[in-house]
Amino acid sequence: MFVDTHCHISKDDYEDIDKIIDDDFKVVEKIIISGCDKDGIKESLDIASNHENIYVTIGYHPDQVDNVTDDDLVELEKLLKNDKVVGLGEIGLDYHYEKDKRDSQIKLFEKQLSIAERLNIPVVIHSREATKDTIDCLKKYNVHGVIHAFSGSYETGIEYIKMGFLLGIGGVVTFTNSNLGEIVSKLGVDHLVLETDSPYLIPHPFRGRGIKNSSKYISFIANKVSEVTNVSLEDVSLITNRNAYDVFDLNNK
Ligand SMILES: [Zn+2]
Repeated sequence: MFVDTHCHISKDDYEDIDKIIDDDFKVVEKIIISGCDKDGIKESLDIASNHENIYVTIGYHPDQVDNVTDDDLVELEKLLKNDKVVGLGEIGLDYHYEKDKRDSQIKLFEKQLSIAERLNIPVVIHSREATKDTIDCLKKYNVHGVIHAFSGSYETGIEYIKMGFLLGIGGVVTFTNSNLGEIVSKLGVDHLVLETDSPYLIPHPFRGRGIKNSSKYISFIANKVSEVTNVSLEDVSLITNRNAYDVFDLNNK
């Protein structure tokens, strides 16, 4: 059994959410949904309140940079105290889609990092084509957490690990055109958590077949991590689950 540390579940993506979730729980023991815009935050809190083993992280994604007011952040801080919330995220910087808004993204990111620091809750970081600025921002705050959808270089991975972060590994590690497997083989399994980022990024060999990703496909990610690191599947599960329980304090939730 695995912990899916990062995915998105919404009525907009799945016809029958309850059926998807029932199926997923044959493979995973805990699911952490990420709500990262106003509707997503509400919906993910709703879903988690109805399912014992579903938790949420909430926070404003960099693509929400034009939609978030200071009042929204005050409200976010209140919602972060909900029992089902295990972290703040995904938050960060995305210079792929939103590169013309770097300064406002950094402001939104830092405001949320300061909330995480104040509440002492883990952060889930989205960083795309923005490694240097992400690291600079993180170093200004006393925060810990997960680098979601890590796909950087070996050196970047080591730097995040030295800063006390875990690396979230998802379907990209299985892609035939990705070198992430090689990088994970060098990084080892000790500082990893597993995630599907569903409904996106379905693992190979399901990619391109019109199938929507969900938490149950995490076993294909775990298998690949086991293969490239030479660690048994059982130990990959043990180590990544333990990391997930520790960082999100799941034993006390
Ligand atoms: Zn995500």
